[in-house]
Amino acid sequence: MNWESERRALLVAAQAMAARGLVAGTSGNLSTRLQDGLYLVTPASRAYDEMTEADLVVVNEELEPAEADHIPSSESLLHLAVYHARPDLGAVAHTHSIYASAAAAAGIAIPPVLDEVVVQLGGPIECAEYGPPASEELARKAVKALGDRRAALLRNHGVVGAGRTPAEAVEACVLVERVAQIFLFAELAGGAKPLPAEVIDAERAIYQMRYGLQVQR
Ligand SMILES: [Zn+2]
Repeated sequence: MNWESERRALLVAAQAMAARGLVAGTSGNLSTRLQDGLYLVTPASRAYDEMTEADLVVVNEELEPAEADHIPSSESLLHLAVYHARPDLGAVAHTHSIYASAAAAAGIAIPPVLDEVVVQLGGPIECAEYGPPASEELARKAVKALGDRRAALLRNHGVVGAGRTPAEAVEACVLVERVAQIFLFAELAGGAKPLPAEVIDAERAIYQMRYGLQVQR
């Protein structure tokens, strides 16, 4: 199979991710779940504005590329770990955006200080414990921090965001960056205040309804 429409959707979202300033140079990566244990991943070391649909790499569960001359992103283990833990998700994005990375460098979680954090991402943006780039350790810790939500920070590194489609995964990372910026400025302005607990409960219900997510414990 050629996966034409999947390739188009992934490339459009990957280029949007770069255009929104969420990644620098060839950093960051984006993937989508195909079927039968296959995934489509952005390639290693390729500039987003020069990337074509043909550069996107189809890999199996062992991360073996379908075409020998294609090298999948170095963070593919992270993507696979999220897919294994979360059957409800169809796409994963990994970014290095500035404000979210600042929070990740401080090793702090971003509490739900805006309604859309709960409604769209499912709750607080937890910060995963440190794991070396491209390692299984990083993948395992990221999955733990993600829980049943759509985004997490990766300590001293960046962000992982997810959704049903590549566009949704990128949208999660855009929201993380926006909330990180607002949260850090609110902290400077006297301290960010969380939403009332009953509001968080009601918004969690909206999140679960909207995204059809199963609660994983
Ligand atoms: Zn990274």
